[in-house]
Amino acid sequence: MSVNVKTFPRLADAAGALSSERGARFLGGGTLIMRAVNEADPSIETIIRSTDPSLSHLSVSSGRVELGAGVTMAAILADGELAFLHPVARAVGGPAVREAATVGGNLFAPSPYGDFAAALLALDAAATLAGGFSQRELPIEELLSRRERGATLVSSVAFKRPPANSFKFAKVTRVHPKGVSVLSIAAQVPLASGRVTGARIAYGAMGESPLRAKAAERALAGRALDAAGIAPALAVAADGTSPADDAIASAWWRREILPVYLRRLLLGTA
Ligand SMILES: Cc1cc2nc3c(=O)[nH]c(=O)nc-3n(C[C@H](O)[C@H](O)[C@H](O)COP(=O)(O)OP(=O)(O)OC[C@H]3O[C@@H](n4cnc5c(N)ncnc54)[C@H](O)[C@@H]3O)c2cc1C
Repeated sequence: MSVNVKTFPRLADAAGALSSERGARFLGGGTLIMRAVNEADPSIETIIRSTDPSLSHLSVSSGRVELGAGVTMAAILADGELAFLHPVARAVGGPAVREAATVGGNLFAPSPYGDFAAALLALDAAATLAGGFSQRELPIEELLSRRERGATLVSSVAFKRPPANSFKFAKVTRVHPKGVSVLSIAAQVPLASGRVTGARIAYGAMGESPLRAKAAERALAGRALDAAGIAPALAVAADGTSPADDAIASAWWRREILPVYLRRLLLGTA
């Protein structure tokens, strides 16, 4: 079966085609979707591309970060202002994958992929969805919980730049340096007078899509970031998770090691 490829200079037109064409999928960097095409995935009938320059727009100001959905992991690694995100971008595959892998594609990559999406969840990012006639914003958390393929076209993501040293990320893998995640943890842990205030913690590979560790976040509120302070959060670290048994690790193992790595991340010993 042949696959049609349609290219649109304007993202709005690409969005219109995506929602109206049968079996249409948007092409980001293609690291996953081209593999599916090569394997003759029958659900893909049309590939929608866009050359709209807004897709690769990247801006960083003191208060806000905006990333076009087509920004690659390599572009993030080349931007010194985004140093806090470098450990996340560097965790996505090897150098060749990072040259092509996009922010938008990572939001739709199936678990255990989605390391960058977990970071965006911890950063409380919002996604802008392109539509044929208008755009609208959606919290990443909501987008990740729906994750419909096909009809949704993300044009960009944006979030508040985290306070210095408040953002942390760790990826656990069995194959170094570029293996797939056993799990990943992203956390934004601001401190006020030495106490945690408004923590956001997100896990990758601990469910069907990246998810928040809400029980652990609550247990950290008002606590010091030391061994005694974080103990209640570690006790509930796996609450609400539903990891898979797959070729990388069993669900049991993922739950067992989660508090160990969360402890190291929060105490800065990772
Ligand atoms: C060898 C290898 C290693 C990898 N290692 C990792 C890893 O360590 N961590 C990790 O997280 N991922 C990993 N990946 C998965 C993948 O490369 C990344 O998740 C990447 O960010 C996906 O982006 P892409 O642009 O290549 O997506 P594509 O392949 O272009 O698309 C993937 C899906 O997202 C949809 N999509 C793409 N862009 C948009 C958009 N703007 N709006 C709506 N839908 C969109 C596509 O339609 C498709 O369904 C790996 C892949 C390979 C092949």
